[in-house]
Amino acid sequence: MFTEIKGLNEECGVFAVWGHKDAAQITYYGLHSLQHRGQEGAGIVVTDGEQLSVHKGMGLVNDVFRPEDLTLLHGKGAIGHVRYATAGGGGFANVQPLLFRSQRGGLALAHNGNLVNANNLKHQLEGQGSIFQSTSDTEVLAHLIKRSGYYTLEDQLKNALSMLKGAYAFAIMNETQLMVALDPNGLRPLSIGRLGDAYVVASETCAFDIIGAEYERDVQPGELVIIDDNGLRSERFVSSQPRAICSMEYVYFARPDSNVDGVNVHTARKNLGKQLAYEAPIEADVVTGVPDSSISAAIGYAEQTGIPYELGLIKNRYVGRTFIQPSQELREQGVKMKLSAVRGVVEGKRVVMIDDSIVRGTTSRRIVRMLREAGAKEVHVRISSPPIKNPCFYGIDTSTTEELIASNHSIEEMRDMMGADTLAFLSTEGLMEGIGRDSLEPNCGQCLACFTGQYPTEIYADTLHPHAKV
Ligand code: SF4
Repeated sequence: MFTEIKGLNEECGVFAVWGHKDAAQITYYGLHSLQHRGQEGAGIVVTDGEQLSVHKGMGLVNDVFRPEDLTLLHGKGAIGHVRYATAGGGGFANVQPLLFRSQRGGLALAHNGNLVNANNLKHQLEGQGSIFQSTSDTEVLAHLIKRSGYYTLEDQLKNALSMLKGAYAFAIMNETQLMVALDPNGLRPLSIGRLGDAYVVASETCAFDIIGAEYERDVQPGELVIIDDNGLRSERFVSSQPRAICSMEYVYFARPDSNVDGVNVHTARKNLGKQLAYEAPIEADVVTGVPDSSISAAIGYAEQTGIPYELGLIKNRYVGRTFIQPSQELREQGVKMKLSAVRGVVEGKRVVMIDDSIVRGTTSRRIVRMLREAGAKEVHVRISSPPIKNPCFYGIDTSTTEELIASNHSIEEMRDMMGADTLAFLSTEGLMEGIGRDSLEPNCGQCLACFTGQYPTEIYADTLHPHAKV
């Protein structure tokens, strides 16, 4: 994925397994295939039926886990997490799963998403004496569970979840049970699979393929799934709201080999490219896509227009991750290092460059310049999603409104700034049509808030600054 230079970052992936003797190893492989969802920290908590053990650290899954670390994690149940840290900031204390121990036993939590009322709840809880170990909004759930007057974890959890607002896919585990829950709008993806007699749960179905698990179904909005040695049970903790799954999962975040709520991501992207060709055709000699996440859309655009698809841009896979470099200037240098234009393909040609989205616009400007330096006669930029004009409060770091180029400039101004001959975006209708979800719900059951500004949940005053979380 091209995550780190776009300025659009997913904030986590979760994985869980129950009923497998190699739970930690299975989780390790699962986290590997979710690595694109977060690269700043990873962790696994395992249960042997009597106690929880944890190993976690900063960095990629490969950096955090050595073979000997996994052999120390014995047990039949595990939850794992990969993190991209924006909500709550970075640092080891925020690496998940979070593990809490009390006289009644342990509790491990892993979360994908972002709570929009975390600050409110945190202030209330601190007023009641809670002391927070981390700055992650995820910890709020642990305190709500602990303060609930209910006896069983299941009831405590239902009560606690009913107080949360925002986006969440949770995996929660104690010594004897695994529970997974999805927010009432189903903003984030979460799927259940089977591996022999074991159950597996993952943010994306690509994690099932790597371990040979069979996809069974998706977790439903407002559903709490309880898995233990007696099997799987489904409960509800709130009445369901209209589905509002994140559109950007289809456009950019999820891996092309994943199915998100029943729709294959590569197919959706290819159809977005076709839709874009229908809405914004142009005379040209070659179509190329910004690797990796725009390739599927570029293939679709080429197929629809009949203009040949070519590898006009290639990615250098062995460059260090640029997101750890602090300044914009260094980030821009990073773009150069990561991508190259293929002179033999673009020289003297009218090139259609397909990208999946534009956040700050700096990447697009660099790529247009790169194509021109490689001899492209014309560069026509086509974006397979609508302009991102609003920040995301649901776990995607889309930058602030001031940094979003489409929030502050017209399409013509953006075209001029990036030095393209023409520029066009897909419409929101085209986005829904291209993704093709079989849904009669509003917006085809998708969240479109970063394009339209219509958020599917209430937004609290303290969430209006997405970089200032609890
Ligand atoms: S605002 Fe945009 S990025 Fe955030 S959940 Fe909605 S569609 Fe996804």
